Formats: sequence, C-alpha cells, structure tokens
Amino acid sequence: MKKYILTLDEGTTSARAIIFDECGSVVSLAQNEFTQIYPTPSFVEHDPIEILSAQYSAITECIIKSGLNVQDISCVGITNQRETVIVWNRLTGEPVYNAIVWQCRRTAPLCEELKSQGLEQYIADTTGLKIDAYFSGTKIKWILDNVEGAREQAERGELLFGTVDTWLMWKLSGGKIHATDETNASRTMLYDIHNLCWDKRLLEILDIPESMLPTVQKSGSVFGDIDIMGVPLSVCGVAGDQQSALFGQHCVNVGDVKNTYGTGCFLLMNTGETAVKSQNGMLTTIAATTQNAPTQYALEGSVFIGGAVIQWLRDEMKLIETAAQSEECALNVRDSAGVYIVPAFAGLGAPYWDMYARGTICGLTRGAGRNHIVRAALESIAYQTNDLINAMQNDAGITVTSLKADGGASKNKFLMQFQADISNINVICPDNAEATALGAALLAGITAGIIKDTNNINISATTFTPRMESDERSHNLSGWKRAVNSTISFTKE
Ligand code: ADP
Repeated sequence: MKKYILTLDEGTTSARAIIFDECGSVVSLAQNEFTQIYPTPSFVEHDPIEILSAQYSAITECIIKSGLNVQDISCVGITNQRETVIVWNRLTGEPVYNAIVWQCRRTAPLCEELKSQGLEQYIADTTGLKIDAYFSGTKIKWILDNVEGAREQAERGELLFGTVDTWLMWKLSGGKIHATDETNASRTMLYDIHNLCWDKRLLEILDIPESMLPTVQKSGSVFGDIDIMGVPLSVCGVAGDQQSALFGQHCVNVGDVKNTYGTGCFLLMNTGETAVKSQNGMLTTIAATTQNAPTQYALEGSVFIGGAVIQWLRDEMKLIETAAQSEECALNVRDSAGVYIVPAFAGLGAPYWDMYARGTICGLTRGAGRNHIVRAALESIAYQTNDLINAMQNDAGITVTSLKADGGASKNKFLMQFQADISNINVICPDNAEATALGAALLAGITAGIIKDTNNINISATTFTPRMESDERSHNLSGWKRAVNSTISFTKE
C-alpha cells in the first residue's frame, strides 16, 4: 500500500523536499539554496525558473535517497514562502519578471497612496491585513505597470499570477493546475477572508484583471496531478508556511498557539470559526483546514528581531562565535544582573507600533559582563513573544495555557525555559523539527485518506514547565516594561 507523502517546502532561501511516512516521521530530506537577487538594497527578487529547478532537483534527490519508488508515494503537500509574486505568460510559460519577494519594499510608496485614499479600514475589514508592501496585491500592480507590454498582455487574458505554490503546481502539471489555497490567498491583500472570494473592489483599485488570478481551494483538498519523474502524483495539501506550521503543530483548536523562533518570530493563534479583529495591530488570517471542516481563522503577530539579535551578538558585537554558544553563556550566570536589551533595531512592532524606536541596553552596572548581555539578548526574544501572547489574549478573550515552539532558536533550551517562566505557560518543542513541512504533509495525507487519525502522528516533544516564582516573574516583567518605555522615550524629540 502507498503510504508515503512527498512535501515540497519552498522557503525564502532554499527549496526542500521531504518524504514523510503515514506516522509523520521523516524518511528523507533534500535541500537546495537559490540566489537572492537585490537590484537595490530594498528590492528583493528570486528567479522563478531557478526556484523551479532547485525544487525539482531537491525532489529527485529526496526520492533517490529514500530508496523508494515514486510509485510508493501516495500524494504531495506543498508549503511555501507567502506573499511572493510571480506573473507569467500562460501561452509560453515564461515569467514576465523575476519573483518579487515578500521582503521587497518597492511598493511602499504605492501603499502610502492607498492609505491616503482612506482605504485602511476597508482593507482591514475585508482582508484582515494592514496596508503594507509585504502583501502580494501591490507587487502584481507594480509588474503590470512597469514591465513593458505586461498590462496589454494581462488585459488580453494572457498573463497569470501565482504565489510560489501556484507557480510550482502550474509548471509541474504542464499548465493544467492554476490554483492556490485559502491561506496563501489570504496574504494577497486581494482576498475577502469572510466571503472567501477575490474582492472585486480591491481588484479594481489595484487595476488587476481577475482572469490572472488562481482558483482558491481549501488547504486540504485535491488540486490535481503533477508529474514527478514521469509519474503523476496528486497534490492534496497546500498551505503558506506559517499556517502550515500551525497545522503541523496540531494547533487546530481555539486558543492553540505556536511561535516560530527564526530570524524574526511568527506567533499564530487559532481563533476557530471567528475572524477576530485585533485592537493591537495583529493580522487576521485564514488557518489551514481540510475539505469538510469549517473555515478557521488565526491571529498573527510578529517579532521583527528574534534570533537576529543572536546573529547581531555573533557578527557585530563578536561576543559569541556560534548562535548555539549563547545557551552556555546564559546558563553561566544566575540572571541578567538587571540588564535588559530591547532589540528595536527596526522599530517596535505589536503591541507598541513605534517605527522610530531604536535598540537600547538598559540597567548596566560595573559588574555586568558578556554572559549577562548574551542572556539579556535571549531573554528579549522571550519578552517580545510574551508581549504578543498578552496582546492576542486580550484581542481574542482567550487564555493561552501552552505554546508550541519551532524554528532555529527553539533549539535553545535556556530560551524555551525562560519563555515558560516569563509567560507562565508550558512551552512544547516537538522532536520533529519539521513542523512547517509536516503541516502540508498532514493536510495532504488526510485528504488522500492515508492518514485516518492524527492521533497516530508521532508527537514526541519536550515540555518546558514554568519554574519561576511569581514575585520574580513580576519583577522581571516590570523591568522589561520600563526598558521598553525608556526605549520609546529615547527616540522621542
Ligand atoms: P529563518 O527560517 O528565519 O532563516 P531559522 O529557523 O533557520 O530562521 O533560525 C535561524 C535563527 O535562529 C538565527 O537568527 C539564529 O541566530 C537563531 N538561532 C539558531 N540556533 C540558535 C540557538 N541555539 N540559540 C539561539 N538562537 C539560535
């Protein structure tokens, strides 16, 4: 019986392919990096053809390494960097421009224009998003306005738009599938997350022909067959990376929360069938669900500088040689000796929203040393995450009792314990580090019927339980609050 699931995990810097068995265990993995193209310091692009070839060679390598035949694979799941835009000609299959990556700021002026037209409320109400250059809509408009002949071709119905999931499915199906899932659609700033359709008014405002847009399906549903080494395989699950991780971490019930501790941190809370409107600048987005389940929503917040503060200690301050060494430094001291780092290198996000704030180190004494600084940097990741958890609890009226953790910095046991202590919740780190890819695999496996019961999925994990006395917690949190306040007042005139 076919019992394997192939997952394409197409990230911002690399394309990975992973084969899972029906218990969610990794059978084999292959990864290829691709080029980051920076035409100017704030423009970021990828070559769509390079993404495709990096992904395809990861797939073939992964299958060969596994020792399986392609015929042993039951179905395919796809998870991808969200918001990134590819526009191509449906007749030739050629992209008309490089992929414009989510990080690219080229449409910031256009976003300012939309704000000055008073569209913030409409866009928040319809799409759940804030007006920002991250999202796909303004990037599509940029291509149509700036690539010679693109608008005419689009108006003739010759151009197609897709996020990377759509591009991969279209190419690997020989142009038969032009589809995406609800989670990816919900990041385009063109999708009505309540009525589950492309929003005609936004398409008009951004002058985007509807004929370019993919069909939107449930994350766990049958998208069609793609050709892998001459064998047709059915794509049965698609989700944007953060929603895929939420599903992969089994956060399928109201109040379930996961945080991905990467360069930045992405915290998502499942809010069930209610699309909660945030009062704290959080985004409202669609969570991944299977075909017959009702649509679920999530609140999403991010910490701009998460693991990046550890890179800064390593690369700029030269206090550590490797990110992993930060754990040893932090454990060498009893506490941070009253030192707080507020890593507002690029302003402060939710719930403070101060774009002009800049980083500070507070509370230095003569006795404060390298280990205290490193410890304070790790603690700052947990404090910022804690601020997001509190903001989401207030928005949703839900008490969070545990947090699922993944991402590079979740390997740091000191950080995970400090998070549990400071947030007074259990922090659960699955042993399977591939939460993002696992989400897409589960969606596909459930849809294809090879995963009947998610209780059989291997969920072995390490749980960090709070150990800090409440007095100490209050003392620490009040210090953090003062540090943030002084950071904000420092940049005020
Ligand atoms: P991304 O997907 O954003 O590239 P990853 O999930 O690969 O990020 O995580 C990388 C980040 O995690 C880096 O910013 C790095 O500094 C941090 N990191 C990796 N290992 C550790 C560790 N053991 N302790 C603290 N931070 C770590």
